[in-house]
Amino acid sequence: MEGLGRWLRDIVPPVALIVAIDLVVTLVFFGLSAGPARIGTLRPLGTIPAKALELVLVGAAVGAAACVGARRLDFSSIGLAMAFVALLDIDHLPSFFGVDQPIRPAHSFAFLAVECVALGLTFRRRPELVLLAVASFFGHIAGDTGVFALFAPFSFDYSSIDAYKVPFGVIAVLFALAAGYLSRRARITTNLHNP
Ligand SMILES: [Zn+2]
Repeated sequence: MEGLGRWLRDIVPPVALIVAIDLVVTLVFFGLSAGPARIGTLRPLGTIPAKALELVLVGAAVGAAACVGARRLDFSSIGLAMAFVALLDIDHLPSFFGVDQPIRPAHSFAFLAVECVALGLTFRRRPELVLLAVASFFGHIAGDTGVFALFAPFSFDYSSIDAYKVPFGVIAVLFALAAGYLSRRARITTNLHNP
């Protein structure tokens, strides 16, 4: 039980923070967008199970890469990566309620920047969280198809990012490996100070 308690303490606070940021960014982008940009819709309900499975697998892959970097089976990194990857998509909550909104506000570099700063400032002793968030973001959008506005809210011009799937996937793996490496270093340092 102690293991489960520690696991929850590791993952719940960062996940709660990124969910809050995701929803705030969704709200802010909604306010900043003009009517013509609000063409985001919910995917057809029948395609949701397959997409959810894909997100779980991408999250597991990002978590596995972090474990390789950490050279140990790290359930916290796996749980965090799966949550970070899957929960990026809560940015189309308004369309779930039938509200016209911009396409996927959190699928933007502005969201990534805010997320990194917030995680970095809130969890100063866990810098690997920022790297894991970057890995999860790029892993997620590498698997996405359709059109996005990566530079929103500065531009709501939507375009396909399909051509960048491979580079985004490579970035995801590299950042996940680095996140694992950093958490390994932090553990070694902690063990040195608290033998
Ligand atoms: Zn997505």
